[in-house]
Amino acid sequence: MELIITSEYKERLHNIVSSYQIPVEGIEIISDIQAWCKERNIPEKNALLTGKCLKNNKTGKHLILLRSEISESMQRSIIRAISIRGFSEKINLLETSWGFLKHLLFHELGHAKDNSWSETQCDEWAFSMMEQVSNYKSLKQDKK
Ligand SMILES: [Zn+2]
Repeated sequence: MELIITSEYKERLHNIVSSYQIPVEGIEIISDIQAWCKERNIPEKNALLTGKCLKNNKTGKHLILLRSEISESMQRSIIRAISIRGFSEKINLLETSWGFLKHLLFHELGHAKDNSWSETQCDEWAFSMMEQVSNYKSLKQDKK
């Protein structure tokens, strides 16, 4: 596990967002989500937040915020929380930088897809989407 520099994955993150019919208007990669929220009078208690989904009430679309640098200790504490929510047998998917980011993005997209979903429901949907993405990859390889 190493420090994740989110902008290095920007193109791949945008590719995922544009592949699904989810009302998202953009992804913002920012260094401090809590400070960004404070400037805009949006309540946010977590100083170490790595992702957030905001709804634009004018358009009904969502803005996904992702933290620009995600340290190893942040990754570990998030993986621990996801494990406690009941996904301990799937956390190996989060051990690479891209795996971690993909789950983070799909989790936030889950909030955009259905505003009523809990953290656990967003995690569950994110893992199922990651499995779909990886299935698609292996199909492409089989054709060679
Ligand atoms: Zn969430």
